[in-house]
Amino acid sequence: MLILGETEAIQLWSNNKTGPLAAFGRLDQIVWARVPQFTLPNGVDPSSGLKSAHYELALEGSATSIASGSSIVSPASRGTVTLATNNPFDAPLIDPAYYSAPVDLAIAKESIRAFFRFMAAPAWKGVLVGPTLPLIDNPSDTFLEEFIRNTSSSNAHPTGTAMMSPPDASWGVVNPDLLLKKARGLRIVDASVYPFVPCAHTQASVYIIAERAADIVKAAWAT
Ligand SMILES: Cc1cc2nc3c(=O)[nH]c(=O)nc-3n(C[C@H](O)[C@H](O)[C@H](O)COP(=O)(O)OP(=O)(O)OC[C@H]3O[C@@H](n4cnc5c(N)ncnc54)[C@H](O)[C@@H]3O)c2cc1C
Repeated sequence: MLILGETEAIQLWSNNKTGPLAAFGRLDQIVWARVPQFTLPNGVDPSSGLKSAHYELALEGSATSIASGSSIVSPASRGTVTLATNNPFDAPLIDPAYYSAPVDLAIAKESIRAFFRFMAAPAWKGVLVGPTLPLIDNPSDTFLEEFIRNTSSSNAHPTGTAMMSPPDASWGVVNPDLLLKKARGLRIVDASVYPFVPCAHTQASVYIIAERAADIVKAAWAT
């Protein structure tokens, strides 16, 4: 979204220390929000509860514009990591399978619409000039889908490549005691064991896994 020109912004700051320059910085605000239930395809809700967010908007201001990155916080799409060869030094085949679950696309679209609604609030009247291309006012579903598919990427919180599963499950990589299935004595202690992406940035839950692992290892060696 384009806002006041640089001259007006400097004027506001010089005159009374207000305007966009008063809040100059990166990631000024972060919004965690849910989409309306009716926008979820078949009513399937991938969040962990009614108080958990579906998406995050990271609002970023500069002197002349305001932007937002939108993240789906607990994506339902499941990718794969497969060995390409039996040489451990060869890169694996990674397929994130973005938007293979329709609900992720629905949430992504709704999060952009929410940003537009926020920007249409009366408080912005006379400040905002309009959206920056390629975004347009009142974008259609098709336009948004294409925009999302062309611009999406992962956002620094990859998890779940060695997901935990019940001890007798044929799927999954580690048991609840973090031991690698079908192997002996090897534990995995990091964000790769999450069965799904938590509705949060991932650092704090890595600490929880690590604390839990310390207890498990101490208990195992005490016997
Ligand atoms: C740019 C960025 C910003 C982030 N910001 C936030 C944030 O603001 N808040 C938040 O909650 N989360 C944030 N995260 C996510 C968070 O940092 C990660 O989820 C978390 O660090 C994952 O922990 P981990 O132990 O699974 O992996 P890592 O922290 O990546 O630890 C893996 C370790 O293994 C080591 N290693 C790799 N290969 C080998 C090898 N062959 N032999 C020995 N050691 C090896 C690496 O050097 C590394 O120390 C951010 C991530 C990134 C990339």
